[in-house]
Amino acid sequence: MKPFTYARAADTPEAVREASGPSHDFIAGGTNLLDLMKLEVMAPDKLVDINRLDLKQISETEDGGLRIGALVTNSDCAADDRIRRDYPVLSRAILAGASGQLRNKATTGGNLCQRTRCYYFYDTAMPCNKREPGSGCQAIGGATRLHAIFGASDQCIATYPGDMAVAMSALDASVEIEGKDGASRTVPVRDFHRLPGDRPDKDNVLEDGELITAVTLPAPTGGRQSYRKVRDRASYAFALVSVAADIGMEDGKISHAALAFGGVAHKPWHKPELDALLTGKEPSDALFAEAADLLLAEAQGQGGNNFKILLLRRTLRAVLREATQMGETA
Ligand SMILES: Cc1cc2nc3c(=O)[nH]c(=O)nc-3n(C[C@H](O)[C@H](O)[C@H](O)COP(=O)(O)OP(=O)(O)OC[C@H]3O[C@@H](n4cnc5c(N)ncnc54)[C@H](O)[C@@H]3O)c2cc1C
Ligand code: SF4
Repeated sequence: MKPFTYARAADTPEAVREASGPSHDFIAGGTNLLDLMKLEVMAPDKLVDINRLDLKQISETEDGGLRIGALVTNSDCAADDRIRRDYPVLSRAILAGASGQLRNKATTGGNLCQRTRCYYFYDTAMPCNKREPGSGCQAIGGATRLHAIFGASDQCIATYPGDMAVAMSALDASVEIEGKDGASRTVPVRDFHRLPGDRPDKDNVLEDGELITAVTLPAPTGGRQSYRKVRDRASYAFALVSVAADIGMEDGKISHAALAFGGVAHKPWHKPELDALLTGKEPSDALFAEAADLLLAEAQGQGGNNFKILLLRRTLRAVLREATQMGETA
């Protein structure tokens, strides 16, 4: 491992100040960053430990939502009574990820910023534009089982691997960010992660030294929520595809629809036209087939992941049937 310096920040301004440099990284739970440092995939000059920051609470917001501090662990978030009652899709998505031990350490901010699981990103003997810009992409034409079917570029076809952010995208949550000199901004989760384009090294919109301080959930819609993750093993495996849904029903029609998809793009995938198509309609298999056609119109397999297109169609149908109480068939 490359030598690095270490600073422990006492508060948010100090953390931001200490981290203002191109090769400075925050460390929260360390469950992703330390693995990457041991492999020398990431080699920061300086680590800024944020674990003493006062960002460990889940509190109620004035508009009836919840504010989840960036250092709330995945275990505490999933177990919170208010989240289990009003945002079960979030609780289920978190519990579908990693393992109990990892979730006890993993934090809300760190989970959002976790890096891709592309095999070549982890293998420093292989070219990878995300790890080393301009070196090439070994995945294109290589092993692509985990890779993207939406939004890939000729520079990178990797996926964002997390579950939590997919549920947060369906819930239309927002990320609170603090930067230099106390400057703060709020970014919808749906816009937080980037598509790779010609800068696959940039996973999200954070600038150097910017710190996530919280994620805010809007007031619950009262809809029926569901998270379905399809993976190679029942636990300890990343999503091949996943679907998060928040669906409201009124007078036999869909009154509210918000869907997001994991394992299929460089970011949690959200297609507003799909939500619009479903809203105001009576649920039926014909409607769900139309929704899948719309979602998959721009899907592009990479060879080894072509199966994801049919898998996503079937998973979407199963989730919609469940959420609209039509019965669960795959
Ligand atoms: C074996 C294994 C299986 C896993 N399976 C799953 C799974 O199925 N689903 C899933 O979703 N995840 C899975 N994970 C990933 C796990 O959820 C992440 O490692 C964890 O959420 C990262 O959180 P952390 O606090 O440990 O982040 P760290 O490792 O501390 O940091 C990760 C990155 O986030 C940055 N960061 C951390 N906090 C902040 C902040 N507040 N502001 C700005 N940047 C920040 C760090 O600088 C670093 O770049 C798995 C991990 C392992 C090791
Ligand atoms: S898909 Fe992206 S992360 Fe994987 S090798 Fe290509 S550039 Fe690297």
